[in-house]
Amino acid sequence: MYLHGTSKINAKGHLEIGGVDTTDLAKEFGTPLYIVDEALVRQRASEYVEAFKASGLKFQVAYASKAFSVMAMCAIAEQEGLSLDVVSDGELYTALQAGFPVERIHFHGNNKTPDEINMALEAGIGCFVVDNFVELHLLNALAAEKGLTVKILLRITPGVEAHTHDYISTGQQDSKFGFDLANGAAKKAIQEAIALANLEVLGVHSHIGSQIFEVDGFRMAVDKVSQFAVEIRKDLGLTFQVINLGGGFGIRYVEGDTPLPIAQYVGAITDAIISNFTAAEFPLPEIWVEPGRSMVGDAGTTLYTIGTAKEIPGVRKYIAVDGGMTDNPRPALYQSEYEAILANRANEANEETVTVAGKACESGDKLIIDLELPKANIGDLLAVFCTGAYNYAMASNYNRIRRPAVVFVKDGQADLAVQRESLDNIVANDVIPARLRKAELAK
Ligand SMILES: *Cc1c(COP(=O)(O)O)cnc(C)c1O
Repeated sequence: MYLHGTSKINAKGHLEIGGVDTTDLAKEFGTPLYIVDEALVRQRASEYVEAFKASGLKFQVAYASKAFSVMAMCAIAEQEGLSLDVVSDGELYTALQAGFPVERIHFHGNNKTPDEINMALEAGIGCFVVDNFVELHLLNALAAEKGLTVKILLRITPGVEAHTHDYISTGQQDSKFGFDLANGAAKKAIQEAIALANLEVLGVHSHIGSQIFEVDGFRMAVDKVSQFAVEIRKDLGLTFQVINLGGGFGIRYVEGDTPLPIAQYVGAITDAIISNFTAAEFPLPEIWVEPGRSMVGDAGTTLYTIGTAKEIPGVRKYIAVDGGMTDNPRPALYQSEYEAILANRANEANEETVTVAGKACESGDKLIIDLELPKANIGDLLAVFCTGAYNYAMASNYNRIRRPAVVFVKDGQADLAVQRESLDNIVANDVIPARLRKAELAK
C-alpha cells in the first residue's frame, strides 16, 4: 500500500489524513467526499518555489487552476507565493472572488470570448497568453478601447510532444493550440504583435504535454525556444524577458508511475535556460512554469461508501460506491488507473479481487478494474487515492447526482472548502416555461 503525504493508518486500523480519521470525516461530512491534504499541497508548492530559488533565476510558479479551481485553493496558492493560470471567466471569477492578486493571474485559452477578455482587462490581470491571430488583434482592439497596454506571451507549438515515458519531436504539429514554430506562424505572430500599440510582448509560452516522467522533452522545448529567441532578437530586435515552459510534471497514481522529484524537472529547465542564454550572450529571462496535476493530484483522496455488490461467478465481482464517473470521469475518459483501500479496515489483508463501479447509468462507470481488497462489506468506506487534480474540476451532475463536498485537512483539523450540492442546487437553474405549467395546461 502506497500512502501519500500525511496519510497513514492509525491505531484503529483506519486511514488518517492530515491527522484526521477518515471514518470521522465520513460521519461529519458524508460521502462521497473529496479530502485534500493541505500540508502536501503546500509542500508541493514550496518544492517548486525552492527549486527555482536555487537556480538564481527570476521566476513565477503559476498554479494551473483548471486542475482544481476552488476559492480555498486560490487562497493557498496566494499564501505560497504562486501565480495562477485561468482559462475561462469562471476560473477568473473564482480567483477574483478569492481575492487573488490580479497581477499574478495569467489568462490562457484558445477561444477567449470578447466578454472574457473585457472582464480580465477590467480586473487588470498580469498577463494574457495569446493563442492565435484572431485573439491577438481582438485583444489589441479591446485594450485600445480601454486605453490599456497589456502584457502578453505568445503560445507557440514548439514541435515537441511529451507523453509519460516517450517524447517525440515533430516537424509540423497538429494542435488546436498556439502558433506553430516550424511553419513560421510564431515568428509572424511576434512581428504582428510588436506592431500593435496596445500589446507588450514579454516572450513566449510552450506546453508540451501532461503526466511527463522525463526531463528530455522539457530540454528539447527549451532548446527550440532558445533558438527562436536568438532568431527573434536578430531579425525583429525583440529580447524575450519571459519564457514560460508550461506544466505537465507527472505524479504517481499507481505502481509503475515514476515521476521525478520536482527539483529535478525544475533543475533541468533552469540549467538548460542558463546554458543556452549564456552561450548566446543574452540576458537571462524570467522563467515561468504552470504545474496543475503535480500541485494537487496526490494530495486528494475520495472517500466513498460501498452500497451494493454483485458477484457473477467465474466472471467478476462488482462493488458499487455512492459516486463514480460523476465525481471522477478520468477512468471512463482515459482508462486512468487508481489505487484504493478500505479506509475503515486498512490493516486487513487483501482477500479478493473486485471491480469498483459507480452509480451512474453507464456500463462504463467503473472507477477501478481488478482491485485487491479485503472482503468488503456493505457500508465499508473505500478511499481512492490521488484524486486531487481533474476530479472535482471535471465533476458533472449526470443523472442529477450531486457534486460531493470538499474538505481540507491539516494538523487534526477538517474544514469545509466546498459544500455538498443540495437538491435545490440541482434544480436552481431550471425554469418551467409558463405555457408548460400545470395551471396553464388545465385551461
Ligand atoms: C493543462 C495545462 C497545464 C497544467 O498541466 P498539468 O499536466 O496539470 O501540470 C499547464 N499549462 C497549460 C497551457 C495547460 O494546458
